[in-house]
Amino acid sequence: MTEIIDGNAVAESVRNDLSACVDSLGDAGVVPGLATVLVGEDPASETYVSMKQRDCEEMGLNGVHVELEAEASPQELYDTIEDLNADPEVHGYLVQDPVPDHIDYREVLRRIDPAKDVDGFHPENVGRLVAGNPRFKPCTPHGVQKLLAASEIDPEGKDVTIVGRSSIVGKPLANLLLQKAEGGNATVTVCHSRTEDIDEKTRGADIVIAAVGAPEFVDGSMLSEGTVVIDVGVNRVEADTEKGYELVGDVAYEGAAEKASAITPVPGGVGPMTRAMLLYNTVRAASQQEDVAVDLP
Ligand code: NAP
Repeated sequence: MTEIIDGNAVAESVRNDLSACVDSLGDAGVVPGLATVLVGEDPASETYVSMKQRDCEEMGLNGVHVELEAEASPQELYDTIEDLNADPEVHGYLVQDPVPDHIDYREVLRRIDPAKDVDGFHPENVGRLVAGNPRFKPCTPHGVQKLLAASEIDPEGKDVTIVGRSSIVGKPLANLLLQKAEGGNATVTVCHSRTEDIDEKTRGADIVIAAVGAPEFVDGSMLSEGTVVIDVGVNRVEADTEKGYELVGDVAYEGAAEKASAITPVPGGVGPMTRAMLLYNTVRAASQQEDVAVDLP
């Protein structure tokens, strides 16, 4: 029997545990604050930030949203960042990627106060993650780690193949799973567009994680019997639905599920975990900045 790893259920359980932390912070007079900054009108980004703000509302966090026009100058965005760095009611924030081409996202990240960088993308936080002492684990990789733990799949000693080496998923995930720490201790192979014979690397793995951004890239023929398959991909493909599209992962689900011992669906797998872990990092940021101890899940 293939286990379907239910990201919605695991995310709900993380949120329940976080609620208790939010209550403890509330007892100390602290309401964790999360700000989202959107530059321009990218429809997917608008959807992402509105979901993040809805999550804040549901969890009783102080949600703040800042919108800048697509033509906003880099300096206008830097001023917003300075304001948020100085705002004591905002414990964490993110500038939604992508930003318009005339803005250098690396420079944006560099200006965010690392203590408020709940995405975990500031160079200092990236360095801390690589060094094995993370301040904030980036949300999607952390979500994957939690999903594995919730299904009692311990990466320790396992061969893990990650397809994708982006700075937001593949690389930080490889670092997390490599760490000499609980939820780590795996032997990690990271594939990308220049990797030769990806099939060989996925077939040799106990756990395959797809973060490619290509619909149904990993199929059943690339997997060995009993592999754990985590599908990070979210791709909009044209379909005869009300919205005119449907969401498809980076894994061809049917064929992969026949081989897998456990698999995440799309939607309902990694996606809800990413959102839950952003709340986690916000609560952590509030706890650190206000010096109020909480029992994070
Ligand atoms: P990305 O920045 O575009 O990176 C894609 C990676 O896949 C790159 O390393 C690229 O290699 C590699 N790749 C692309 N085509 C390939 C091919 N034909 N063969 C081998 N490797 C290939 O994407 P991302 O931001 O990491 O996102 C990956 C997927 O996850 C997307 O579908 C995205 O929507 C989804 N995502 C989901 C969540 C969630 O919460 N569920 C969060 C973030 C992202 P090179 O480095 O060589 O170019």
